[in-house]
Amino acid sequence: MSEGVRASPVVPLGPGPARGAAPGARVYARVGPELFRDLRASAYRKIVLQVPAGLTRDFAKLGEEIREATGARVVHVARACFGACDPPSPREAPGAEAIVTLGHAPIPNMPLALPTYFVEMRTSEGDVERMAEAVEKAGLPKHLGIVSSVQHLDILPRFRDALSRRSFETYVGEGDRRLAYPGQALGCNYTTAESIAEKSEGVLFLGTGLFHPLGLAFAVDRPVWALDPLQVEISPPLDRDRMVAKRLMTIARAMDAKRWGVLASSFGGQDRRGMALSLVEKARAKGRSAEILLFDRLDPRDLMGRDLDAYVCTACPRIALDDAESYDRPMLTAPEFLSAIGERPLTPYRFDTFH
Ligand code: SF4
Repeated sequence: MSEGVRASPVVPLGPGPARGAAPGARVYARVGPELFRDLRASAYRKIVLQVPAGLTRDFAKLGEEIREATGARVVHVARACFGACDPPSPREAPGAEAIVTLGHAPIPNMPLALPTYFVEMRTSEGDVERMAEAVEKAGLPKHLGIVSSVQHLDILPRFRDALSRRSFETYVGEGDRRLAYPGQALGCNYTTAESIAEKSEGVLFLGTGLFHPLGLAFAVDRPVWALDPLQVEISPPLDRDRMVAKRLMTIARAMDAKRWGVLASSFGGQDRRGMALSLVEKARAKGRSAEILLFDRLDPRDLMGRDLDAYVCTACPRIALDDAESYDRPMLTAPEFLSAIGERPLTPYRFDTFH
């Protein structure tokens, strides 16, 4: 590498200043001249490009642009990328001197093995007056917490102003050290919503898809609406009671489990092996057996045929919540596991916030 890992930036994007990212992180709103300039200045010989599902269509064109702008070799990681938590490791991309990763904000408290260029793919598109009108027409409560995908954070201040002109009181939470920005949604950490839940009668998510509304509904006991800023469409709140009831049934199925598999990932931002060890001890203290199973990206086929009754996943909490049906045994999050072995009450339901 021609240049050492650079100091962390503090980039004034979004509704508030970014928290200092991990050493080695650089943050960009979009792919463009600033990114190319900085990559060129470091004279990397080999760069690894990571593109999440949804943006893969243009991966070759993007690689070509980086190659032309920097003169570096560009290699692509093919495995699916779900978050900023699983950057390519030096073993996965031998000889790469830097990572360019698209669609995610950095996770400030996650160490980085290589200089990493986060391109957040921001957009400031969205007619905030129409959006505020849609919120009013849909009859959302006047005391409203707002959380946004990183892509739409830039319109948050204008949107709040538009809502305030319609007599809404809006709240944007700070979030903890796993989040780069106030108001940011991350699938494993909704502390931006949790911190303002008390004064909010409901939470409005800005962005597309159901991934974040589902996570938010587990994390905060408030109705959660979703607003697509480009289509200006509001989705009705999810049925939290039904979602939680389904999880309680899964916990109940695991209560008699004698043999537990404790799943632990080696991905940089999913690694809670310390927690895995402590869960093993707790299971054994309750007279159950427990073994740690290590992986990087979990494939349900890897768990087949094992002499186990249930699993607890210490990696991404969304594996248990969103993909439970892919596994042939109950798959619990860490707080759910504690309920299953009688270490904590079943209710209130607790989301497995990854701090
Ligand atoms: S742990 Fe899961 S939810 Fe959190 S950033 Fe990684 S993939 Fe997303």
